[in-house]
Amino acid sequence: MKKFYLSTALPYVNESPHAGFALEIIQADVMARYHRLLGEDVFFLTGTDENSLKNVQAARKEGIPVKKLVDRNAKKFYELKKALNLSFDDFIRTTEKRHIKGAQKLWLACKKDIFKKKYKGLYCVGCEEFYKESELVNGLCPEHKTRPDLVEEENYFFKLSKYQNQLKKIIEKDEIKIIPQSRKNEVLSFINSGLEDICISRSAERGRGWGIPVPEDPSQILWTWYDALSNYINAVGYSDNPKQFKKWWPAYLHIIGKGILRFHAVYWPAILLSAELSLPKTIFVHGYLTSAGQKMSKSLGNIIDPFELVKKYGTEPVRYFLLREIPPTEDGDFTYEKFEQRYNADLASGLGNLVARVIAMAEKLKAQNAKRKTTTQNLKFKKEIDKTWEEYKKALEEFKFNEALGSIWKLISFCDCYIDKERPWELKNQESRIKNQEVIYNLLFVLTNIAEMLKPFLPETAGRILRQTRTTINKPLFPRLK
Ligand SMILES: [Zn+2]
Repeated sequence: MKKFYLSTALPYVNESPHAGFALEIIQADVMARYHRLLGEDVFFLTGTDENSLKNVQAARKEGIPVKKLVDRNAKKFYELKKALNLSFDDFIRTTEKRHIKGAQKLWLACKKDIFKKKYKGLYCVGCEEFYKESELVNGLCPEHKTRPDLVEEENYFFKLSKYQNQLKKIIEKDEIKIIPQSRKNEVLSFINSGLEDICISRSAERGRGWGIPVPEDPSQILWTWYDALSNYINAVGYSDNPKQFKKWWPAYLHIIGKGILRFHAVYWPAILLSAELSLPKTIFVHGYLTSAGQKMSKSLGNIIDPFELVKKYGTEPVRYFLLREIPPTEDGDFTYEKFEQRYNADLASGLGNLVARVIAMAEKLKAQNAKRKTTTQNLKFKKEIDKTWEEYKKALEEFKFNEALGSIWKLISFCDCYIDKERPWELKNQESRIKNQEVIYNLLFVLTNIAEMLKPFLPETAGRILRQTRTTINKPLFPRLK
């Protein structure tokens, strides 16, 4: 049986989940469900990154213990499972024992490449990363537009420079395939600019005791990224379950946002090379979700809360919008106006209307799908369905979620035209009754295909369509928004 291990990145838990992470985890969910439908053995991992300095700061602001803050927010991330109907198999928190043990084991496995050095640098807590002066924009972090802190400490470093040539070859030859190509180019140009050794610990004092202690030196805490990246191996038994580890590692796919590309495509493979572990196969990089044209931020008050969206519109319209409207590898914009337009045009009118029409006619003609006697050989129809399946599969192999859905909606339009042309409600004589029934059987057949294709995207709707084709009991899928 073919194995398919995929992960999202682990979000920070200093605040509640916003719709940007919802996009990532829904993309991952579609891939997981799709590969399960292909009959593969799937392991879908997500979780939370809890050892960050940001959490220490957020907790201090609220005047509560850090543990309390991370417990509260990690719970909210877990609750996305129900809200967004996610099918992940495991949820790892980086404060769990299995993770701490694994992160420390990985450190020891890299020991030959770790050394201590006095260091002075500019650290952005938002990114949890040191920046070179030349990487800042007007002295500010390019990601957070904030001034990084000047940090002067004696810390542990990892010999990243040693892996420069090896990494270059790995990326060039797609041994780790980076999608899209533009992100692969970005990684190569970062590698070509010269890799410097990276600082992988901080003083326990600066981290206020929060985080995972460096093995053999508890005065130091693991750098958040060194610890967080190891979750991908820790969740599959790196520290304590060799059998499970052998089964699942290396991961087939990491799904990440564009802001954390170098951690996944440069640092992570280098650490794995150092520890003599296999490398993940694919990294898929999505863009950012903006809100009415601007980056979502607390200060702008434009954060889209996925729980509120689901409460207002339901789970599947939220999944649909993010997958259909947002280009998978570019930035995409959320507005309520666009959301409602998509909902009414594609879900209420397009899909919902077709299903309602076909089921109502089937009911009238007593043409239930289950009672179908012969397979109608309408060649034009069959060709159209086959073509759609082909386009759909190709799009999904390339992570083009929007195009996969686009091809399903083309098939919906094809059916609408077919109905208008055949007018199966007109009854002239007994012969036309038989012909009309055949038209309905064709349409029911295409609806079952549409439902199959929708399974990874809109699992609940797919189930409802399949039920309706069997019972011909017509219930609106997506009532129109006023
Ligand atoms: Zn930053």
